[in-house]
Amino acid sequence: MANSLKKGTLFVISGPSGVGKGTLVSMLRQNHPEIKLSVSATTRNPRPGEINGVHYFFLTKEDFKKRIELGEFLEWAEFSGNFYGTNKNFVEKMLKDGHNIILEIDVQGALQVKNKLQEAILIFIEPPCFEELKLRLLKRSTETEEEIQKRLAVVKSELQQKQEFNYVIVNDNLDTAFKNLENIILKEIDGIKNK
Ligand code: ADP
Ligand code: 5GP
Repeated sequence: MANSLKKGTLFVISGPSGVGKGTLVSMLRQNHPEIKLSVSATTRNPRPGEINGVHYFFLTKEDFKKRIELGEFLEWAEFSGNFYGTNKNFVEKMLKDGHNIILEIDVQGALQVKNKLQEAILIFIEPPCFEELKLRLLKRSTETEEEIQKRLAVVKSELQQKQEFNYVIVNDNLDTAFKNLENIILKEIDGIKNK
């Protein structure tokens, strides 16, 4: 039957910077192109290769603040000195049209979504240990040493929030973590469809 009768499911994938959220989400999208990804807005500078409208909508702080006032964000947060936010209209429309949708956002944003949409499924991606997380950020080489330290400084408090999430996945072996994520998502979609 047409999707129009069924609301989609909102999945929120969160966890510390460098844990592998982006990697897991891109694997998910390759295997399940029917699941939509919300493209966030941010005030941080694009990394080499990042495209406006594909990886993020890159905004000035002024523009971002204007959009906060206009109520354009479902959630927004300041992370490591920059603003990040999810477009409310996009998410509402996708869900209304019956699409399953993924947000890849920080822990503060994930908790805001949970407060607003109790039916959202929150998935926390956890590193095997702090040292491995640090290594991944260093190896990724997308941030300066100072920026990496800023991101690592909030990891402890982010990990303390993991009990607020519906699921926790440890991203140690990438393929195992991906299988876990895929199983959770398919199970939730199937469970809701069969309710
Ligand atoms: P996030 O989106 O959470 O900031 P990324 O997906 O960019 O994290 O991953 C950070 C770095 O760690 C990337 O270089 C990625 O290739 C690597 N990575 C991701 N998952 C694993 C894993 N399971 N084992 C080793 N390296 C990983
Ligand atoms: P990065 O600068 O590494 O792309 O992202 C930094 C952090 O911001 C990551 O944890 C990422 O998931 C998060 N993030 C990306 N988009 C959003 C968003 O729309 N809202 C919130 N709250 N966090 C976001």
